[in-house]
Amino acid sequence: MRIGIDLGGSKIELIALDGAGGELLRRRVDTPRHDYRATLATIAGLVEDAEVELRQRGSVGIGTPGAVSALTGRMKNCNSTWLNGQPLVRDLQALLQREVRISNDANCFALSEAIDGAAAGAEVVFGVIIGTGCGAGVVVRGQVLTGPNGIAGEWGHNPLPWPSPEELPGPACYCGKSGCLETWLSGPGLASDLVLRTSSQAEGAWSAREIAARAMAGDEACLAALHRYEDRLARGLAQVINILDPDVIVLGGGLSNLGRLYESVPRLWARYVFSDTVRTRLLAPRYGDSSGVRGAAWLWGDPATRP
Ligand SMILES: [Zn+2]
Repeated sequence: MRIGIDLGGSKIELIALDGAGGELLRRRVDTPRHDYRATLATIAGLVEDAEVELRQRGSVGIGTPGAVSALTGRMKNCNSTWLNGQPLVRDLQALLQREVRISNDANCFALSEAIDGAAAGAEVVFGVIIGTGCGAGVVVRGQVLTGPNGIAGEWGHNPLPWPSPEELPGPACYCGKSGCLETWLSGPGLASDLVLRTSSQAEGAWSAREIAARAMAGDEACLAALHRYEDRLARGLAQVINILDPDVIVLGGGLSNLGRLYESVPRLWARYVFSDTVRTRLLAPRYGDSSGVRGAAWLWGDPATRP
């Protein structure tokens, strides 16, 4: 049995999978915010309760928005800031009396979709999360590619490629640079691009779903914003294809619900990819919001024993 934990800023979710990826049990509780000790106890309690209920012991994998510092073994880059600087893996291993694996949520998303999701059977998978932020992970033959810096797939803080003059220098990013893909391709990025091109500020509060609905209803400013968005996503992904040449790119996060992207973006990226034909497929996720917790469970096990 494989247990996956999705440790988010507001919820902690547990899933238990059987050997074939079937769901045995799922639990969801509030994250004890700003309390590291309580966060540890909550995770340990979820695992113990699941094992009692299912009468078996499992492997434990954790997905979080942050990363483990290769230098210190402590958490870094977590938006759940009370985790930063804490030896989360070591503490959980002590509590649970077993080895625990951890990876960031974009890696878990990519892994879940690569193992038995939309990209099942594909050799190289690039999984992108476009929502409040913009992250990604790389899976090669069923294994997460991590890298010596632990940042493989960290795509959102590369600059928007092939920029037009009016796209320079681009919006300021929290990372300290300007024009990062995240500032263009996240949901807030799409909304603020719309505001820049129109006189009203009201659009800044619109979600991607609202902008798409208004575009469908004939709002020209919203439709133009979507067209700009699609071309930027195509450019960003074309650069990934030029470097990694993945078999499949899977989209996740709130913006992956825009069905038009799967037709428009591959049509547009043909202009930017350095190849006469592009066989890379752009796919919607199979598991959607559940991919993070499923991918955490799949951090364990020889790929040969997976479905
Ligand atoms: Zn940035």
